[in-house]
Amino acid sequence: MNYHILKKSELDWFIKKLSRKMKVCAPVAKGHGSFAFKEVKSAGEIALSYIPTILPPKKYFMPPREKLLDFDLSGGKPSDTAYLEAVKTALFGVHTCDLAGIQCLNMVFAERPRDYNYLLRKESIFIIGLECNAYCDGYASCALVGNHNPNGGYDLFFTDLGDRFILHVGTQKGEELAEGLGLARAVPADMVALAGVRETKKAVFRNEIGVGLRNLPGILAGSVDSEVWKDLGERCVSCGNCTNVCPTCYCFDMADTINLDMKTGSRNRSWDSCQFESFAAVAGGENFRAERAERQRHRFYRKFKYPLNKFYRSFCTGCGRCTRTCMAKISLKDTLKALAAG
Ligand code: SF4
Ligand code: SF4
Repeated sequence: MNYHILKKSELDWFIKKLSRKMKVCAPVAKGHGSFAFKEVKSAGEIALSYIPTILPPKKYFMPPREKLLDFDLSGGKPSDTAYLEAVKTALFGVHTCDLAGIQCLNMVFAERPRDYNYLLRKESIFIIGLECNAYCDGYASCALVGNHNPNGGYDLFFTDLGDRFILHVGTQKGEELAEGLGLARAVPADMVALAGVRETKKAVFRNEIGVGLRNLPGILAGSVDSEVWKDLGERCVSCGNCTNVCPTCYCFDMADTINLDMKTGSRNRSWDSCQFESFAAVAGGENFRAERAERQRHRFYRKFKYPLNKFYRSFCTGCGRCTRTCMAKISLKDTLKALAAG
């Protein structure tokens, strides 16, 4: 795939051209040092330098609450109407950690039985990545999981070369947009500049916990009875914020709402959290993870053990959101370090 060039002075033109074709959403400042993806109409609204947004871009792929169908039982036999809300959208400025998060969700929802709401909505989203040339803040652990450099998952990918961006084309859709806008092809000097950026990054991004990713499944397997979980269990308040903000947490709850006629209604799904006490409760009053310590252990196993065994990739993208948001100051990196230390 090709590389193209966009001068920084042309970014506003690019965003305006794009927004004539589809809704454009990008990171914008929310105050108090936080950021969120929201619709923009011009480049001036976009925060090009930002720490990970409060919610990851997964909100566009699997909304916090969505209607799946309306049902009607009045005609003697049940009938239903399936729903899918999908707006053609460009996500601009997605960091490599969040690109990895979308790749994880793609794998999960493509498994049988396939989740067609997710998969069809995904097709309506055009993804434009943006490279981080330095750490966003100290909570990130993207180098531990190899997400500080781009690993695909985008239609176009922007890297800042000072006075210009170099755009890597990741898909046919990306190529059609770049060619359609008449963007200049990169020349050898641009490729040398890109190689320089990547070389500089090698000295900036380091494995943040001092233990290799491939060792973590074994460390976690040997930590079932670790005191670390007890400590986390005593501090955690089971608010579920860490899973809500995680780009790879995808668990949801389903609920039917019945109308007053007692015959029609709708089925909805909404984000759920393995940190809630009710999450693993089953009929008969049993609960597979009644204790907070068990639920915290489960959260770490779902990032660094089960998916590495099943999908051969980490389901932690290193974004740092869980640590950034936790009111109990439970740190992902400190927890991994403590487990590695035994
Ligand atoms: S955000 Fe912190 S306190 Fe809340 S459930 Fe997660 S680890 Fe527990
Ligand atoms: S576990 Fe924490 S650092 Fe890892 S992807 Fe989820 S929110 Fe980000």
